[in-house]
Amino acid sequence: MHDPLDILRQLVPIDSRNTLPLGAPGERASDEMAMCAWLVDFLEGLGLGTRVTYAAPRRPNLVAFPKHPEPSWPTLAFQAHMDTVGTDGMTHDPFAVEVIGGKLYGRGACDTKGGMAAMLAALADLLAEKVQVNLMFVATCAEETGCQGAPFLDLSPWRIDGMIVGEPTSNRLVAAHKTSVYLELVCAGKAAHGSRPEAGINAIYRTAELIGFLQRVIIPELAAHQSPGFAGSTLSAGMIQGGVKPNIVPDRCSLVLDLRLVPNAPPVAELIGDLARRAGAALGFPVEPGWTQITAGLGTPLDAPLVQTVQRALRQQGRDDAPGTVAYCTDAGVFAAKGIPCVVLGPGDILQAHGAVEYIDIEELRAAHGIYQQTAREWASRRG
Ligand SMILES: [Zn+2]
Repeated sequence: MHDPLDILRQLVPIDSRNTLPLGAPGERASDEMAMCAWLVDFLEGLGLGTRVTYAAPRRPNLVAFPKHPEPSWPTLAFQAHMDTVGTDGMTHDPFAVEVIGGKLYGRGACDTKGGMAAMLAALADLLAEKVQVNLMFVATCAEETGCQGAPFLDLSPWRIDGMIVGEPTSNRLVAAHKTSVYLELVCAGKAAHGSRPEAGINAIYRTAELIGFLQRVIIPELAAHQSPGFAGSTLSAGMIQGGVKPNIVPDRCSLVLDLRLVPNAPPVAELIGDLARRAGAALGFPVEPGWTQITAGLGTPLDAPLVQTVQRALRQQGRDDAPGTVAYCTDAGVFAAKGIPCVVLGPGDILQAHGAVEYIDIEELRAAHGIYQQTAREWASRRG
Protein backbone atom coordinates (compact mmCIF):
# COMPACT_ATOMS: atom_id res chain seq x y z
CA MET A 1 0.00 0.00 0.00
CA HIS A 2 1.33 3.39 -1.00
CA ASP A 3 0.64 6.33 1.28
CA PRO A 4 -0.40 9.48 -0.63
CA LEU A 5 1.10 11.52 2.21
CA ASP A 6 4.59 10.28 1.27
CA ILE A 7 3.98 11.36 -2.32
CA LEU A 8 2.48 14.72 -1.35
CA ARG A 9 5.55 15.47 0.78
CA GLN A 10 7.57 15.23 -2.43
CA LEU A 11 5.15 17.22 -4.61
CA VAL A 12 4.67 20.31 -2.42
CA PRO A 13 8.33 21.48 -2.54
CA ILE A 14 8.26 21.44 -6.37
CA ASP A 15 7.61 25.03 -7.46
CA SER A 16 4.98 25.00 -10.23
CA ARG A 17 3.52 28.47 -9.78
CA ASN A 18 1.52 29.78 -12.71
CA THR A 19 1.25 33.53 -12.29
CA LEU A 20 0.77 34.66 -15.90
CA PRO A 21 -1.81 33.56 -18.45
CA LEU A 22 -0.53 31.42 -21.32
CA GLY A 23 1.06 33.67 -23.93
CA ALA A 24 0.98 36.80 -21.75
CA PRO A 25 4.13 38.95 -21.89
CA GLY A 26 6.33 39.36 -18.81
CA GLU A 27 8.58 37.30 -16.56
CA ARG A 28 7.11 34.06 -15.24
CA ALA A 29 7.73 33.19 -11.60
CA SER A 30 7.90 29.52 -12.52
CA ASP A 31 6.37 26.87 -14.80
CA GLU A 32 5.39 23.18 -14.80
CA MET A 33 8.70 21.76 -16.12
CA ALA A 34 10.06 20.44 -12.81
CA MET A 35 6.71 18.94 -11.84
CA CYS A 36 6.41 17.26 -15.23
CA ALA A 37 9.92 15.79 -14.95
CA TRP A 38 9.13 14.38 -11.49
CA LEU A 39 5.90 12.83 -12.77
CA VAL A 40 7.57 11.27 -15.83
CA ASP A 41 10.10 9.59 -13.50
CA PHE A 42 7.42 8.34 -11.13
CA LEU A 43 5.06 7.07 -13.83
CA GLU A 44 7.76 5.36 -15.87
CA GLY A 45 8.89 3.76 -12.62
CA LEU A 46 5.41 2.18 -12.47
CA GLY A 47 5.95 0.74 -15.95
CA LEU A 48 3.70 3.18 -17.82
CA GLY A 49 4.60 4.85 -21.10
CA THR A 50 4.66 8.65 -21.08
CA ARG A 51 4.21 11.35 -23.69
CA VAL A 52 4.93 15.04 -23.10
CA THR A 53 3.62 17.70 -25.47
CA TYR A 54 3.68 21.48 -25.07
CA ALA A 55 0.96 24.12 -24.97
CA ALA A 56 3.75 26.72 -25.23
CA PRO A 57 7.51 26.72 -24.54
CA ARG A 58 8.12 25.26 -21.04
CA ARG A 59 4.38 24.58 -20.59
CA PRO A 60 4.07 20.78 -20.75
CA ASN A 61 1.07 18.49 -20.80
CA LEU A 62 1.71 14.87 -19.85
CA VAL A 63 -0.07 11.60 -20.66
CA ALA A 64 0.87 8.30 -19.03
CA PHE A 65 -0.60 5.14 -20.56
CA PRO A 66 -0.21 1.35 -20.51
CA LYS A 67 2.45 0.21 -22.97
CA HIS A 68 0.35 -2.83 -23.86
CA PRO A 69 -3.31 -1.94 -23.26
CA GLU A 70 -5.70 -4.89 -23.09
CA PRO A 71 -8.44 -4.16 -25.65
CA SER A 72 -11.10 -6.05 -23.70
CA TRP A 73 -10.53 -4.00 -20.52
CA PRO A 74 -12.17 -0.62 -19.89
CA THR A 75 -9.90 2.43 -19.65
CA LEU A 76 -9.92 4.84 -16.72
CA ALA A 77 -7.88 8.04 -16.66
CA PHE A 78 -6.94 10.03 -13.57
CA GLN A 79 -6.35 13.71 -14.22
CA ALA A 80 -4.79 16.59 -12.27
CA HIS A 81 -3.22 19.91 -13.21
CA MET A 82 0.44 20.52 -12.46
CA ASP A 83 0.32 24.28 -11.81
CA THR A 84 -0.56 26.16 -8.66
CA VAL A 85 -1.51 29.79 -8.13
CA GLY A 86 1.16 32.22 -6.87
CA THR A 87 2.37 32.54 -3.31
CA ASP A 88 2.02 36.31 -2.65
CA GLY A 89 0.51 37.02 0.74
CA MET A 90 0.91 33.49 2.08
CA THR A 91 1.41 33.39 5.82
CA HIS A 92 3.41 30.14 5.91
CA ASP A 93 6.29 28.83 3.81
CA PRO A 94 4.60 27.72 0.56
CA PHE A 95 7.19 25.05 -0.32
CA ALA A 96 8.08 23.69 3.10
CA VAL A 97 6.03 20.67 4.09
CA GLU A 98 4.54 21.28 7.52
CA VAL A 99 2.30 18.69 9.13
CA ILE A 100 0.37 20.08 12.08
CA GLY A 101 -2.73 18.60 13.71
CA GLY A 102 -3.54 16.13 10.93
CA LYS A 103 -3.12 18.69 8.17
CA LEU A 104 -0.37 19.19 5.63
CA TYR A 105 0.37 22.84 4.80
CA GLY A 106 1.84 24.15 1.54
CA ARG A 107 0.95 25.84 -1.73
CA GLY A 108 -0.95 23.33 -3.86
CA ALA A 109 -1.52 20.93 -0.94
CA CYS A 110 -5.24 21.25 -1.65
CA ASP A 111 -5.32 22.54 -5.25
CA THR A 112 -4.35 20.17 -6.59
CA LYS A 113 -1.24 18.32 -5.53
CA GLY A 114 -3.30 16.54 -2.87
CA GLY A 115 -5.64 15.01 -5.44
CA MET A 116 -2.63 14.24 -7.62
CA ALA A 117 -0.82 12.44 -4.78
CA ALA A 118 -3.91 10.35 -3.99
CA MET A 119 -4.25 9.43 -7.68
CA LEU A 120 -0.57 8.46 -7.98
CA ALA A 121 -0.74 6.27 -4.87
CA ALA A 122 -3.91 4.64 -6.23
CA LEU A 123 -2.27 4.05 -9.61
CA ALA A 124 0.76 2.42 -7.99
CA ASP A 125 -1.43 0.11 -5.88
CA LEU A 126 -3.82 -0.75 -8.71
CA LEU A 127 -0.98 -1.65 -11.07
CA ALA A 128 0.56 -3.82 -8.34
CA GLU A 129 -2.71 -5.64 -7.76
CA LYS A 130 -3.12 -6.05 -11.57
CA VAL A 131 -6.63 -4.66 -11.67
CA GLN A 132 -8.21 -5.38 -15.07
CA VAL A 133 -8.41 -1.76 -16.20
CA ASN A 134 -6.22 0.16 -18.63
CA LEU A 135 -5.06 2.92 -16.30
CA MET A 136 -3.93 6.32 -17.49
CA PHE A 137 -2.76 9.53 -15.87
CA VAL A 138 -3.20 12.92 -17.52
CA ALA A 139 -1.47 16.03 -16.15
CA THR A 140 -2.09 19.48 -17.58
CA CYS A 141 -0.43 22.88 -17.41
CA ALA A 142 -1.97 26.36 -17.16
CA GLU A 143 -5.18 25.34 -15.43
CA GLU A 144 -5.11 28.16 -12.91
CA THR A 145 -5.29 30.85 -15.60
CA GLY A 146 -8.58 29.53 -17.00
CA CYS A 147 -8.04 25.88 -18.05
CA GLN A 148 -5.70 27.05 -20.82
CA GLY A 149 -3.46 23.98 -21.10
CA ALA A 150 -6.01 21.18 -21.53
CA PRO A 151 -7.31 22.36 -24.94
CA PHE A 152 -3.81 21.75 -26.38
CA LEU A 153 -3.76 18.11 -25.30
CA ASP A 154 -4.62 15.57 -28.00
CA LEU A 155 -6.04 12.45 -26.35
CA SER A 156 -7.39 10.98 -29.58
CA PRO A 157 -4.74 8.19 -29.70
CA TRP A 158 -6.45 6.61 -26.68
CA ARG A 159 -9.97 5.31 -26.11
CA ILE A 160 -10.78 6.74 -22.69
CA ASP A 161 -14.03 5.41 -21.21
CA GLY A 162 -13.95 7.61 -18.15
CA MET A 163 -11.87 10.32 -16.50
CA ILE A 164 -11.74 11.47 -12.88
CA VAL A 165 -10.52 15.04 -12.43
CA GLY A 166 -8.94 15.52 -9.01
CA GLU A 167 -9.98 19.04 -8.06
CA PRO A 168 -10.91 19.59 -4.40
CA THR A 169 -14.54 18.55 -3.84
CA SER A 170 -14.14 17.29 -0.26
CA ASN A 171 -14.28 13.80 -1.84
CA ARG A 172 -17.80 14.35 -3.11
CA LEU A 173 -18.85 13.32 -6.59
CA VAL A 174 -19.34 16.26 -8.96
CA ALA A 175 -20.84 15.59 -12.38
CA ALA A 176 -21.70 19.15 -13.37
CA HIS A 177 -20.33 22.66 -13.24
CA LYS A 178 -21.08 25.89 -15.01
CA THR A 179 -19.57 27.28 -18.19
CA SER A 180 -17.70 30.54 -17.61
CA VAL A 181 -17.87 33.23 -20.30
CA TYR A 182 -16.06 36.54 -20.18
CA LEU A 183 -17.72 38.73 -22.79
CA GLU A 184 -16.84 42.26 -23.84
CA LEU A 185 -19.65 44.43 -25.19
CA VAL A 186 -18.76 47.69 -26.91
CA CYS A 187 -20.92 50.76 -27.37
CA ALA A 188 -19.77 53.31 -29.96
CA GLY A 189 -20.54 57.03 -29.84
CA LYS A 190 -19.34 60.22 -31.51
CA ALA A 191 -16.58 62.40 -30.07
CA ALA A 192 -17.16 66.10 -29.45
CA HIS A 193 -15.71 68.79 -27.20
CA GLY A 194 -16.96 68.44 -23.65
CA SER A 195 -18.28 72.02 -23.73
CA ARG A 196 -20.61 71.04 -26.60
CA PRO A 197 -21.99 67.64 -25.55
CA GLU A 198 -25.01 68.05 -27.84
CA ALA A 199 -22.65 67.80 -30.84
CA GLY A 200 -21.53 64.29 -29.86
CA ILE A 201 -22.94 60.95 -28.83
CA ASN A 202 -21.76 59.86 -25.39
CA ALA A 203 -20.67 56.19 -25.44
CA ILE A 204 -20.60 56.11 -21.62
CA TYR A 205 -24.28 57.12 -21.47
CA ARG A 206 -25.05 54.38 -23.99
CA THR A 207 -23.23 51.85 -21.86
CA ALA A 208 -25.19 53.01 -18.82
CA GLU A 209 -28.38 52.24 -20.76
CA LEU A 210 -26.96 48.87 -21.72
CA ILE A 211 -26.27 48.06 -18.07
CA GLY A 212 -29.87 49.00 -17.23
CA PHE A 213 -31.12 46.65 -19.97
CA LEU A 214 -28.94 43.80 -18.65
CA GLN A 215 -30.27 44.32 -15.12
CA ARG A 216 -33.93 44.65 -16.13
CA VAL A 217 -34.15 42.00 -18.82
CA ILE A 218 -31.14 39.70 -19.14
CA ILE A 219 -30.22 38.92 -15.53
CA PRO A 220 -33.76 37.72 -14.66
CA GLU A 221 -33.81 35.59 -17.85
CA LEU A 222 -30.49 33.98 -16.94
CA ALA A 223 -31.66 33.35 -13.38
CA ALA A 224 -34.59 31.36 -14.83
CA HIS A 225 -32.30 28.83 -16.55
CA GLN A 226 -33.02 25.40 -15.10
CA SER A 227 -30.47 22.67 -14.42
CA PRO A 228 -30.60 20.15 -11.58
CA GLY A 229 -28.40 21.28 -8.69
CA PHE A 230 -28.07 24.89 -9.85
CA ALA A 231 -29.99 28.06 -9.00
CA GLY A 232 -29.85 29.45 -12.54
CA SER A 233 -27.23 31.23 -14.64
CA THR A 234 -25.72 34.54 -13.57
CA LEU A 235 -24.22 37.68 -15.04
CA SER A 236 -21.94 40.18 -13.36
CA ALA A 237 -20.55 43.36 -14.94
CA GLY A 238 -16.87 43.16 -14.01
CA MET A 239 -15.04 45.93 -15.87
CA ILE A 240 -15.96 49.14 -17.64
CA GLN A 241 -13.69 51.42 -19.62
CA GLY A 242 -14.53 54.50 -21.66
CA GLY A 243 -13.31 57.99 -22.44
CA VAL A 244 -9.84 59.52 -22.67
CA LYS A 245 -10.17 63.01 -21.16
CA PRO A 246 -12.72 64.84 -19.06
CA ASN A 247 -13.37 67.41 -21.82
CA ILE A 248 -14.00 64.97 -24.66
CA VAL A 249 -17.36 63.28 -25.18
CA PRO A 250 -16.31 59.60 -25.29
CA ASP A 251 -16.78 57.80 -28.60
CA ARG A 252 -16.21 54.31 -27.21
CA CYS A 253 -17.02 52.43 -24.04
CA SER A 254 -16.28 48.79 -23.27
CA LEU A 255 -18.11 46.68 -20.72
CA VAL A 256 -16.81 43.22 -19.74
CA LEU A 257 -19.29 40.72 -18.35
CA ASP A 258 -18.70 37.52 -16.39
CA LEU A 259 -21.44 35.06 -17.34
CA ARG A 260 -21.80 31.73 -15.50
CA LEU A 261 -24.08 29.39 -17.42
CA VAL A 262 -25.72 26.22 -16.11
CA PRO A 263 -25.27 22.99 -18.17
CA ASN A 264 -28.75 23.28 -19.75
CA ALA A 265 -28.29 26.91 -20.85
CA PRO A 266 -28.52 27.68 -24.60
CA PRO A 267 -25.27 27.25 -26.60
CA VAL A 268 -22.75 29.99 -25.80
CA ALA A 269 -22.31 31.33 -29.35
CA GLU A 270 -26.07 31.63 -29.75
CA LEU A 271 -26.46 33.31 -26.39
CA ILE A 272 -23.73 35.90 -27.01
CA GLY A 273 -25.03 36.84 -30.47
CA ASP A 274 -28.57 37.03 -29.16
CA LEU A 275 -27.63 39.21 -26.23
CA ALA A 276 -25.87 41.85 -28.36
CA ARG A 277 -28.62 41.83 -31.01
CA ARG A 278 -31.46 42.15 -28.53
CA ALA A 279 -29.72 44.88 -26.55
CA GLY A 280 -29.15 46.83 -29.78
CA ALA A 281 -32.77 46.42 -30.87
CA ALA A 282 -34.17 47.41 -27.47
CA LEU A 283 -31.89 50.43 -27.01
CA GLY A 284 -31.85 51.75 -30.58
CA PHE A 285 -28.05 51.82 -31.03
CA PRO A 286 -25.57 49.10 -32.00
CA VAL A 287 -24.04 46.95 -29.25
CA GLU A 288 -21.05 45.00 -30.61
CA PRO A 289 -19.58 41.84 -29.05
CA GLY A 290 -15.81 42.25 -28.54
CA TRP A 291 -13.42 39.60 -27.16
CA THR A 292 -14.58 36.51 -25.31
CA GLN A 293 -12.91 33.91 -23.11
CA ILE A 294 -14.90 30.73 -22.64
CA THR A 295 -14.17 27.92 -20.16
CA ALA A 296 -16.29 24.88 -20.94
CA GLY A 297 -18.85 23.61 -18.44
CA LEU A 298 -19.55 20.05 -17.37
CA GLY A 299 -22.87 18.21 -17.50
CA THR A 300 -22.26 14.46 -17.35
CA PRO A 301 -25.62 12.61 -17.27
CA LEU A 302 -26.31 11.01 -13.91
CA ASP A 303 -27.04 7.66 -15.59
CA ALA A 304 -23.59 7.59 -17.24
CA PRO A 305 -21.61 4.43 -16.33
CA LEU A 306 -18.79 6.54 -14.86
CA VAL A 307 -21.13 8.39 -12.49
CA GLN A 308 -22.74 5.15 -11.36
CA THR A 309 -19.38 3.45 -10.90
CA VAL A 310 -18.04 6.27 -8.71
CA GLN A 311 -21.29 6.14 -6.73
CA ARG A 312 -20.83 2.42 -6.12
CA ALA A 313 -17.26 3.05 -4.98
CA LEU A 314 -18.40 5.80 -2.60
CA ARG A 315 -21.09 3.57 -1.10
CA GLN A 316 -18.61 0.72 -0.76
CA GLN A 317 -16.36 3.11 1.20
CA GLY A 318 -19.30 4.09 3.41
CA ARG A 319 -19.59 7.58 1.98
CA ASP A 320 -22.34 9.85 0.69
CA ASP A 321 -22.81 9.08 -3.02
CA ALA A 322 -25.08 12.01 -3.94
CA PRO A 323 -23.84 13.80 -7.06
CA GLY A 324 -23.20 17.48 -6.44
CA THR A 325 -22.13 20.55 -8.35
CA VAL A 326 -19.37 23.13 -7.89
CA ALA A 327 -19.25 26.83 -8.70
CA TYR A 328 -15.77 26.84 -10.26
CA CYS A 329 -14.55 25.62 -13.66
CA THR A 330 -12.21 22.65 -14.17
CA ASP A 331 -10.33 20.84 -16.92
CA ALA A 332 -13.21 18.32 -16.83
CA GLY A 333 -15.26 20.72 -18.96
CA VAL A 334 -12.51 20.82 -21.58
CA PHE A 335 -12.13 17.03 -21.74
CA ALA A 336 -15.91 16.45 -21.69
CA ALA A 337 -16.15 18.73 -24.72
CA LYS A 338 -13.69 16.34 -26.44
CA GLY A 339 -16.16 13.51 -25.82
CA ILE A 340 -14.62 11.91 -22.72
CA PRO A 341 -17.06 11.10 -19.88
CA CYS A 342 -15.75 13.08 -16.88
CA VAL A 343 -16.48 13.60 -13.22
CA VAL A 344 -14.68 15.70 -10.62
CA LEU A 345 -13.72 14.19 -7.27
CA GLY A 346 -10.81 15.07 -5.04
CA PRO A 347 -9.74 15.62 -1.44
CA GLY A 348 -9.72 19.05 0.15
CA ASP A 349 -12.08 21.97 0.37
CA ILE A 350 -11.97 24.53 -2.44
CA LEU A 351 -12.11 27.19 0.29
CA GLN A 352 -8.56 26.10 1.20
CA ALA A 353 -7.31 26.64 -2.37
CA HIS A 354 -5.52 29.81 -3.49
CA GLY A 355 -5.55 31.34 0.00
CA ALA A 356 -2.99 32.83 2.39
CA VAL A 357 -3.10 29.49 4.20
CA GLU A 358 -3.43 26.31 2.16
CA TYR A 359 -3.64 22.86 3.66
CA ILE A 360 -5.11 19.42 3.13
CA ASP A 361 -6.63 17.22 5.76
CA ILE A 362 -4.58 14.01 5.79
CA GLU A 363 -7.55 11.76 6.57
CA GLU A 364 -9.32 13.18 3.54
CA LEU A 365 -6.22 12.67 1.41
CA ARG A 366 -6.08 9.00 2.39
CA ALA A 367 -9.83 8.59 1.88
CA ALA A 368 -9.45 9.86 -1.71
CA HIS A 369 -6.78 7.21 -2.30
CA GLY A 370 -9.32 4.56 -1.23
CA ILE A 371 -12.13 5.99 -3.36
CA TYR A 372 -9.93 6.11 -6.49
CA GLN A 373 -8.79 2.53 -5.97
CA GLN A 374 -12.31 1.28 -5.38
CA THR A 375 -13.58 3.14 -8.46
CA ALA A 376 -11.03 1.34 -10.64
CA ARG A 377 -12.00 -2.03 -9.13
CA GLU A 378 -15.68 -1.33 -9.81
CA TRP A 379 -14.74 -0.12 -13.31
CA ALA A 380 -12.94 -3.44 -13.94
CA SER A 381 -16.09 -5.41 -13.19
CA ARG A 382 -17.99 -3.25 -15.69
CA ARG A 383 -16.45 -4.67 -18.92
CA GLY A 384 -17.33 -3.40 -22.36
ZN1 LIG B 1 -7.26 23.29 -9.28
